[in-house]
Amino acid sequence: MSINKKIIPTSMLGATLPGNSTVEMKEFEVPTPGFGQVLVQTKASTICGSDIRAIYREHTGKGAEGYIPGMVAGHEPSGIIVQEGPGLKEFKTGDRVIVYHISGCGVCYNCRMGYMIACSNPTFRQAYGWQRNGGMAPYILCDEKDLVHLPDELTYKDGAQVACGFGTVYEALEKIGVSGDDAVLVTGLGPVGLATLMLAKAMGANKLIGVEVNDYRIDLAKKLNLVDHVFKPSDHTVQDILDLTGGKGVEKAVDCSASDAGRQTCVRASKEWAKIALVGEGNTMTLNPSPDMMHAQKTIYGSWVTSTWKMMDLVDRLVRWNIHPGDLITDEFPIERAGEAYALMASGHCGKVAVVYPD
Ligand SMILES: [Zn+2]
Ligand SMILES: [Zn+2]
Repeated sequence: MSINKKIIPTSMLGATLPGNSTVEMKEFEVPTPGFGQVLVQTKASTICGSDIRAIYREHTGKGAEGYIPGMVAGHEPSGIIVQEGPGLKEFKTGDRVIVYHISGCGVCYNCRMGYMIACSNPTFRQAYGWQRNGGMAPYILCDEKDLVHLPDELTYKDGAQVACGFGTVYEALEKIGVSGDDAVLVTGLGPVGLATLMLAKAMGANKLIGVEVNDYRIDLAKKLNLVDHVFKPSDHTVQDILDLTGGKGVEKAVDCSASDAGRQTCVRASKEWAKIALVGEGNTMTLNPSPDMMHAQKTIYGSWVTSTWKMMDLVDRLVRWNIHPGDLITDEFPIERAGEAYALMASGHCGKVAVVYPD
């Protein structure tokens, strides 16, 4: 295959995040894969809200979100394998791949469940773009076990979207079980909220309701035809949603706003026996347990990223449903302009922002 003959350079420029709302390009050695590892040539790498929240503006993340200064940023990469280390079991040069963005120890309880996101071994748990080099460079050193095949029907931009955001959303929707039975409310229509609407629609939800404060994102949700009704938060948002659902509320709700108000709306604008998923990270949640939850027989699910096997399922479903997560990408930059890419994502005046690499 011609891919084998591609000349791999010895050094590359990667984007690092010093934590003062800038991007610093640094030179890195192109790594050589060891046992069970591959070298992936990056093709698309998207920016996540968590990159902005925990690293870009200031290094506030701890533990799982602790960024090691100087690491190549970017935990949402997709690309093609260009070099093999010894001992591979499944993947080979030329395979198109999504990088599940946390490399776990592989043997703790959560890793064995496929949820490397929740790996309990602090020495071996390393997230790409946080504690090991990520996708904001032309090449990434990956462990074979962290990879998911990217089918030909999907683009690298689709793959990058699956690596974090769409995987996270699919997990939450599977937990609450969205189908054609359901009206679905999504609070917060940033890239994760838009992804929630896109997947809920594909799963058959027949009434999609959004709540969002940012005009650009409201327009984007409408333009992409992902929402039937969208409201700006107000003191009558709950009533507005009840009015759309015969006074009963939605069957399923997902909070992607990470705000107390958004979470309260999910709970109070949902029907008796509703299932609610929390996806947006941080802040608090204020509830009155008896009227909000207990007397209404409601269930709230916490959901954190997804598992490798569920990511494999999601990829199959995307092909079957013929939908493209990459459609949520509104702005693309080459790696040399990563600074502009992060600044735009931080501004919120965008859908998803991607760094893309030439073929
Ligand atoms: Zn992410
Ligand atoms: Zn583990």
